[in-house]
Amino acid sequence: MQKRAQDELLHFARVFFVFTLCSVAHTSDTVEGLWRDYAAIFRDFDDLTLARWLAQTLSQLHGRLWRMSHPLVASYHLAAMVGHDRQIWHQRLIGSPPDYPMTNCCRAPLLPMVTREVLECGLICVHCNGSAVDSNDIPDKGLAENLSGWAEEYAAIHGVAHWDEERKLNHSNYEQAFEDAAQKSEQMLSKLGSEMAPPLLEFFPAVIWDDQDECLQVRPEDIVL
Ligand SMILES: [Zn+2]
Repeated sequence: MQKRAQDELLHFARVFFVFTLCSVAHTSDTVEGLWRDYAAIFRDFDDLTLARWLAQTLSQLHGRLWRMSHPLVASYHLAAMVGHDRQIWHQRLIGSPPDYPMTNCCRAPLLPMVTREVLECGLICVHCNGSAVDSNDIPDKGLAENLSGWAEEYAAIHGVAHWDEERKLNHSNYEQAFEDAAQKSEQMLSKLGSEMAPPLLEFFPAVIWDDQDECLQVRPEDIVL
């Protein structure tokens, strides 16, 4: 597996497995190993079967806004990574689903993910984890500005999880600051899912939004819409 796909798998595994399925901390090796096992079903598919599975699932994802933690999205994400490794969409084994335009990043069907990194990375491609849509290219300028403003505000809250030791020690009560940041994160992610992301559906065939913050220990079930 390529390094980038491996990093992505590990990030994804941490987020999805640690927070969704299990409350006990695991080492990254065991988590990565488990997700490698999960992805094995897609690696066992031949190219044509994998291309068909991806296309079929894309048509089921069409027209809706999805939480990243949704099991169907998680499955698609795993399959998409295997597909990207094998350059499935370049092979043109089957036609791309007609409702999905092709991305510039990896020439896969466009299925964007909106995350807290929208300001720096734009909308992320579910297939290659690159930038599918630059933040300057989001079709509605008002919407793009709202998303940028949201991301800036979110970055300051998220940053509390990454304060250095000195800053933590200088704060009168870091635990409380962390807890406050986590609560604010829940509210802001809820806003992302209920207000900021839905208008994107006007421009894209389906949209995934990131419904957790592993650094602030905010889990998908904490985000109420
Ligand atoms: Zn891509």
